[in-house]
Amino acid sequence: MQEKKKLSLIAKIGIGFIIGLILGFVIGPLAPNSPFVAKVILPVLQLIGNIFLSLLKMLIVPLVFSSLVMGASSIGDPKVLGRIGVKTIAFYLGTTIVAIVIGLLLGNIIQPGVGMAIEGAKAVAKEPQTIFDVILNIFPANPLKALVEGIMLQVIVFALFLGVAATLIGERGKAFLEFNSSLAEVMFKITAIVMKTAPLGIFALIAVTAAKYGPAVLAPFAKVIFAIYLGCILQMLLVYSGLIAGIVHKSPMWFFSGVREAMLAAFVTRTSAGVLPISMDNVQNKLGVSENVSSFVLPLGATINMDGTAIYEGVCALFIAQAFGIDLSLGAQLGILMTATLASIGTAGVPGAGLIMLSMVLLSAGLPIEGMALVAGIDAVLDMARTCVNVTGDMCVSAVIAKTEGEKL
Ligand code: ASP
Repeated sequence: MQEKKKLSLIAKIGIGFIIGLILGFVIGPLAPNSPFVAKVILPVLQLIGNIFLSLLKMLIVPLVFSSLVMGASSIGDPKVLGRIGVKTIAFYLGTTIVAIVIGLLLGNIIQPGVGMAIEGAKAVAKEPQTIFDVILNIFPANPLKALVEGIMLQVIVFALFLGVAATLIGERGKAFLEFNSSLAEVMFKITAIVMKTAPLGIFALIAVTAAKYGPAVLAPFAKVIFAIYLGCILQMLLVYSGLIAGIVHKSPMWFFSGVREAMLAAFVTRTSAGVLPISMDNVQNKLGVSENVSSFVLPLGATINMDGTAIYEGVCALFIAQAFGIDLSLGAQLGILMTATLASIGTAGVPGAGLIMLSMVLLSAGLPIEGMALVAGIDAVLDMARTCVNVTGDMCVSAVIAKTEGEKL
């Protein structure tokens, strides 16, 4: 009975996606001539989509905070927490490096920028973060500010401290932990309620995107879009399927069908942080990963593990170099490997963040920042694929860590 209900939610989300896509392609070309489409239909769709996004965002901080405090306290032993932490970071780093290598290989083979017209390019660069900023930003000087502003890495660190410390003081920490566990349960319930609105939210969001980026707008960029989408598919088929089969000892189908709601939501909403409630739900309820592991691994991943963004940085750096007729040596490409790793770690899980971090990669590779304007116009379409991979990578690693911790999936 339960299973039937869940199946029907993903079916509804799928139907919402397809109808939204078709509707978007149909009304997109009508918008310039029809005030009704431009002034009523599209804004209403946008409003519905934005409400769905706000509902997801509403969940993030309290959900991550409460479940992480619970996770840290039930793992209890700081040594176990440290072990899980080191393993998680190692897998995140490993999968990211493979992703960039895939991106660079595809950039060299497909050569998406060769013969590209570059006139009219305008700089859109914003100040990129340095690696020192990225490190310093882990530590919450003001934890309330971190909570209020949703600075996830800092929320994670603070919640871990609270969970461990409350366990260490024993009896006196109990009331705090009980409150927390109740808060986490409440947040899980709200997540389930918000999930029910996902078909409508996804329908509206994809309709607006499809209306804006009809097939014609994308034609000149077909090659770069193809390279990035192919890279994303390869990452899923080779890396994630390999990890699931090799370490979790399950079929990739088991994994992908378990996490498809989160994958689709990531594709449409373009925010890893926003999809966190859905990925937590899928990983716990469909894959059977414990709350302890998922509430630690997923929020961390949504903040620092961006494999899709890594592929994108690799392909785009080469695309821009080729478009401007700049030859990149092997050494320069190794440099891109390093900065793209850091850039993907520093990328926030919100729409378009990867584009801003691309400036860091371009700057350090000595490539023209103006190149960003080339991809800025189609960034949303690229962001859909990379966010989907970002979230899938986190969920894959959460299953891997659960398995290596002896959990039965
Ligand atoms: N939108 C991506 C995410 O949320 C980040 C990016 O722009 O690359 O995962």
